[in-house]
Amino acid sequence: MKKTVVLYPGLGVGHLVPMVEVAKLFLKHGLAVTMALVEPQVKSTDFSAAVARARASNPSVAFRVLPSPPADSNPDGAPRHHVVKVIQSLAAMNALLRDFLRSLPSVHALVLDMFCVDAQDVAAELKLPVFYSFASAASDLAIFLNLPSKFASNTAKIKELGDSIITFPGVPPFKASELPSEVIGDDEALVYVLRMFERMAEAKGILINSFDSLEKPALSALNDGLCVPGRATPPVYCIGPLVSGGGDKEHECLRWLDAQPDQSVVFLSFGSLGTFTSKQLEEIAVGLEKSGERFLWVVRSPRSPDEKHGDPLPEPDLDALMPEGFLERTKDRGLVVKSWAPQVEVLRHRATGAFMTHCGWNSTLEGITAGLPLLCWPLYAEQKVNKVHIVEGMKLGVEMRGYNEKVVKAEEVEEKVRWVMASEGGGRALRVRVAAAKDAAAEALQEGGSSNLAFAQFLKDMDISKVATMHD
Ligand code: UDP
Repeated sequence: MKKTVVLYPGLGVGHLVPMVEVAKLFLKHGLAVTMALVEPQVKSTDFSAAVARARASNPSVAFRVLPSPPADSNPDGAPRHHVVKVIQSLAAMNALLRDFLRSLPSVHALVLDMFCVDAQDVAAELKLPVFYSFASAASDLAIFLNLPSKFASNTAKIKELGDSIITFPGVPPFKASELPSEVIGDDEALVYVLRMFERMAEAKGILINSFDSLEKPALSALNDGLCVPGRATPPVYCIGPLVSGGGDKEHECLRWLDAQPDQSVVFLSFGSLGTFTSKQLEEIAVGLEKSGERFLWVVRSPRSPDEKHGDPLPEPDLDALMPEGFLERTKDRGLVVKSWAPQVEVLRHRATGAFMTHCGWNSTLEGITAGLPLLCWPLYAEQKVNKVHIVEGMKLGVEMRGYNEKVVKAEEVEEKVRWVMASEGGGRALRVRVAAAKDAAAEALQEGGSSNLAFAQFLKDMDISKVATMHD
């Protein structure tokens, strides 16, 4: 019987997609993979569609959808930060997860998404080794693993830091206010986040979707035990870049790109959730028009203040949102796509020349593996620290200075787009560095490349010979 690894990506499509890429690696090395998914509490067509897609393209993975967490997983019903809600909901899944794992004939190991931290209790009960698949940068891990020892005894301190510079081994110094809002914006979320990373440090190993040469200083800090003072850091394995793709290859925007010259188009896309106010959309439009460059821009409807991050949005009304006459005036060199574009396919198209991104980690890797310079406009979650890594650590992008102000001005959009697309000057040097990073990424994945070897080492360290039988 093949040895089975159970992957537990937790809630949401965003966590499922990268975990499927990890599943493929296990399969490639002859292991059986079961993916335990959690049905969202509110029925979601996105989730059902993503599961159906994942099933159809990965018939060798056994997908099991566990029922939604009990509705009362939020004990006192008080409004809570979404990170607290996610962790509490997943903790409430433990009994179901345990029964599910027990129902399997044999399980070798459990691989968790970071929000599934309480599943470590189930693993301990069933004597299963626990690993994590960390879906962001190694540089983020170097910061987050360090947070409990720095702040657990005085959580108030972190807020007081404001814009003062904070340092962590292996990453460039940055303003404390760049830390995710989960850490600096909500007292209860901070307690949960600190506990999450404290427990993550108990795992047997952490897989990271990155590659060694991209983040050398952070990896040295992690490997030298500088990130979890006072205890051993679990081994980390950079096994990426794992990029999914699989978008609609017939999308109109790809046909439009077919008609554009090589590397002539700047692509603007801000993750699965990024939205702007109508004022900000207008500034971007004016900047793009004045730049005179070709562009492909994914536009979403603005989110009203009472709509929650992640709530589905209506299709944007471009005539109402764009400046008068903008679409007509730019029709020969620009395309605005409503809500969603097949991003990986767009980035890899020969006509795409630069990427304005919100610095989500998947987008970052997709941009780097396509060899594109990044114009960094971080919006939420860990994107501001990712911007620091990209701009100051990896030197593969420049920041949109206005990201931390009320609005990024049209002048800055115009200036940065022109700068990055110009054939000479600083943008050229940046393009040379990104081209080298693209090659390094491809090498890492080849036979004998760093990520390939890291996964082989991980399998060795997992000690494949010992299989836990759930009925022992
Ligand atoms: N994405 C896409 N089309 C879009 C916007 C996003 O295909 O119009 C994909 C993108 O390729 C990436 C994911 O959605 O794989 C976004 O993940 P990321 O980690 O960059 O950001 P998040 O959405 O988690 O903030």
